[in-house]
Amino acid sequence: MTKIDYLDSTYLFESKAIFVEIKENEKGKAVILDETIFYPQGGGQPADRGEIMSGDNIFAVNDVRLDETGTIWHFGEFKNGEFKQGNKVILKIDKDRRILNAKLHSAGHLLDCAVSKIRIENLKPTKGFHFPDGPYVEYDGTIENPAEIIPILQKNIDDLIEQNLQLERKDLNPEEAQAKGVWAPAGKLARIVNFAGFSICGCGGTHVNTASEIGKITIRKIKSSQGKTKIAYSVV
Ligand SMILES: [Zn+2]
Repeated sequence: MTKIDYLDSTYLFESKAIFVEIKENEKGKAVILDETIFYPQGGGQPADRGEIMSGDNIFAVNDVRLDETGTIWHFGEFKNGEFKQGNKVILKIDKDRRILNAKLHSAGHLLDCAVSKIRIENLKPTKGFHFPDGPYVEYDGTIENPAEIIPILQKNIDDLIEQNLQLERKDLNPEEAQAKGVWAPAGKLARIVNFAGFSICGCGGTHVNTASEIGKITIRKIKSSQGKTKIAYSVV
């Protein structure tokens, strides 16, 4: 199991770890460390990229995944040399990519806050896609007048950014998580997040600290049909 170091600071772009081993599967070769700041793709958010270094030995990371045992796989290729078990390594993640992903992902949470303010009772959030290429939040349930909702939603989301809401985070033990109906990995703490004053959500993604860090969120399109409502947005 890999110790996760990205949950407490989105803005930690460099860290240290110990090299454990190289693993390989159908996706290719992966570096395994004792701990990591690299975010593994999941929860609708893309993986970090970057480099892992030990002296002149450099491994370029182009994808990161979490397996069912809690081990994080850093996929990529050695640009130079190799690592030996027990090597101290330096981790550097692509800063711009991390910040963009944290903004896009946090924007999905804020969008849901803006939706909840309209009090459309039958919409239940089911899915978030926070990749740079066409991010959206999807709900079970439909609305009758999506075009009329766009300006209201836009105003709500502008107001929430203007208020610069704080993003709150807390870890629940498995019993607390179960009591609140939040999913937790077996036997582990569950991370919950919420923008101040809005409902909590179990989430292991990387987040901004306050709403204004996101910048401007634009509601691009609302598609509501066949029992689903998809709200597409962009972040500048
Ligand atoms: Zn999140």
